[in-house]
Amino acid sequence: MKIEHVLTHLLDYQLDEAFESASMRFERRRHCLVEIVCDDGTVGWGECLGPAKANATIVGLYAGALIGANPLETEKLWLELYNRLRDQGQRGLTMTALSGIDIALWDIKGKCYGAPVSELLGGRFREEVRAYATGSFRRDRGDRVQDVAEEVAGYAREGFHGVKIKIGFDVEEDLRAIAAVREAIGPERRLMIDANHGYDLLEAIEVGKRAAPFGIDWFEEPVLPEQIDTYRAVRQGQPIPVAGGENWHGRYAMLEPLSTRAVDIVQPDVCGVGGFSEIRRVADMAAMCGVRLVPHVWGTAVCIAASLQFMAALPPDPPRRRPIEPILEFDRTKNPFRQAVVETPIAHRKGVIRIPDGPGLGITIDRDALQKYALKEA
Ligand SMILES: [Mg+2]
Repeated sequence: MKIEHVLTHLLDYQLDEAFESASMRFERRRHCLVEIVCDDGTVGWGECLGPAKANATIVGLYAGALIGANPLETEKLWLELYNRLRDQGQRGLTMTALSGIDIALWDIKGKCYGAPVSELLGGRFREEVRAYATGSFRRDRGDRVQDVAEEVAGYAREGFHGVKIKIGFDVEEDLRAIAAVREAIGPERRLMIDANHGYDLLEAIEVGKRAAPFGIDWFEEPVLPEQIDTYRAVRQGQPIPVAGGENWHGRYAMLEPLSTRAVDIVQPDVCGVGGFSEIRRVADMAAMCGVRLVPHVWGTAVCIAASLQFMAALPPDPPRRRPIEPILEFDRTKNPFRQAVVETPIAHRKGVIRIPDGPGLGITIDRDALQKYALKEA
């Protein structure tokens, strides 16, 4: 079995209403899928976290090393590609592009052996996961606090057991939003807050102290991801468990935050941290350091399917911990191609999602959707 082609698919949709986190404004939805085609007709799919066109460019740089190679040799190929850009690219886009390729190779491996990736990773500890709803970005409309409260009330009605809202804009307004959201979802549901590194240390500590009485599960990306020591200071300075890691790519980026316990919960993204090959290493590191792992998920059904395969195979730690954990991040913001790219959408049922058990990622790509949402500009 040999690799014949490595292709990228850039998907694009112009939003009729922009939304923003503390670090990014979304006018469009854009994602980069990776397709790897083998000489026997087997096709594998992956996805890259982050800027679609930049990821596609780097996938193109890696592709030369893949043509003619055995796609089942995932570890050899991972190292080959990593070494190609190692001197200048240990983190960032080099890793997000590598992630998309690695996921596609594992999809091929699963199809070759007729097994879901989770089985190849060691076995399925769970067949379903609870999802939490991610949304509540800031929009260009009147009262943000009211807007966010109405949005999360909808998620509660849909059956989600938890919601995550965006903060990091303005301390006082953020605290009003947190109070309104807790009121809207009631006392039982989980509530997570995500600052997308919008605060400095003093703001993060103040928000943490004043938000804690509202019962917050975790405080995500309170400060800049480069500032690991500042993360530690946030942990020490306020009572809410600190989460982070969606921007720490590769095991080396994870080493300091895990070994120095800069976070209570680490959030690698399989489409950013280095694919299945690397996220399993990060999971081992997190387990060794006693840090809980809850994956970051932000992408199409390809990314969600890959995350589910990883989550199925993530050992409960400690062993008797309820196998329903960890929880899946389920993006509820507008993205018409998120589920359209697969023939069977990955849907929740009262906030619970079955993990696909077909070969590879367990999904079938809808090529008409790829065409419909293909990026039109040059
Ligand atoms: Mg986040």
